Amino acid sequence: MKNTIELKTWLDDLNLNHPLVVAGPCSAETEDQVLKIAHELKDSDVNYFRAGIWKPRTRPGNFEGVGALGLKWLQKVKAETGMKTATEVANAAHVKLALEHDIDLLWIGARSTVSPFIVQEIAEALEGTDKIVLVKNPVNPDLALWLGGIERLYSADIKNLGVIHRGFSTYEKTRYRNNPEWQIAIELQNRFPDLPLICDPSHITGKRDMIFEVSQTALDLNFNGLMIETHTDPDNAWSDAAQQVTPETLIQMMEDLKIRKETDTEADYRNALNTLRTQIDVIDHQLIDILGKRMKIADAIGELKKDKNVAVLQSKRWNEILGKMILEGEQNKLSEEFILRVFKAIHQESINHQEKIMNG
Ligand code: PEP
Ligand code: MN
Repeated sequence: MKNTIELKTWLDDLNLNHPLVVAGPCSAETEDQVLKIAHELKDSDVNYFRAGIWKPRTRPGNFEGVGALGLKWLQKVKAETGMKTATEVANAAHVKLALEHDIDLLWIGARSTVSPFIVQEIAEALEGTDKIVLVKNPVNPDLALWLGGIERLYSADIKNLGVIHRGFSTYEKTRYRNNPEWQIAIELQNRFPDLPLICDPSHITGKRDMIFEVSQTALDLNFNGLMIETHTDPDNAWSDAAQQVTPETLIQMMEDLKIRKETDTEADYRNALNTLRTQIDVIDHQLIDILGKRMKIADAIGELKKDKNVAVLQSKRWNEILGKMILEGEQNKLSEEFILRVFKAIHQESINHQEKIMNG
């Protein structure tokens, strides 16, 4: 993607002394529910009140949103609390209605970002708008698709842009609802440091008790803001009940999160160091995870060998692996000595595992 996107600094213009906060229910359910939540958030750090009006559900038969009626409730929120409003749009008709109801921030959902046709339709409907438009990452871990969404909006002369990182689907179960794959967001941030980057820990975790931890990681990685689903009665929410927090919890969380301020050069240095360290932590977690997966496969091989009564150590295969890894290591600027040490340790651990299986 071309690196020439010039962004209007809508976020700087807000002049916040804390990360941007977008909060409110997953879905607008009733007028009372929307207004009750909004009033409880009114005096907090929340900048934009969110509520889904049209809900993209993976499987049919779930609550699919109240539709255009809910836009009036959002207008009431703005009139009664002064908070700006935000909702998801997924086609040109949604855009038209949202603009008519003066919604301040529109976002494109993860299931829409995957479709260039839909993104193009939304971009054309929004052409030239000065509303803030945020693009959620696509459900699949594809940076190009995410960037493509931003490009389509930028080409439609929409300058108040930003992105929301809400994690990615995986077939394999992880501890997250949507795996964060932080390195994808980090790469996007490296390419477009001026593009405001917001984290949505609610959809990443799917569980309210993990939201704080993921929010802190996002702030440590220099994200510019958070979008957190908030409901006065989370357990009875009509969608995403497990991941919503109460306004009270949200407010407490905002107090407890460590927000680093860029005040002087010393702070700049510590900031940069902290960001890099968090990136290392993310990768270290991935290393452990991947080593664990490798060991599980080694265990399965151990079972097979046990069945056939084959020796644990297969030297020919092992030498082939080592040779290949040394070559790949060189391409990644890793010394032969290092590769040998690492792989010998991994191999030893596999042998220990398999020995246990053979003799277990
Ligand atoms: C949402 O924000 O409620 C939503 C549906 O999000 P996503 O597009 O990330 O699934
Ligand atoms: Mn939701």
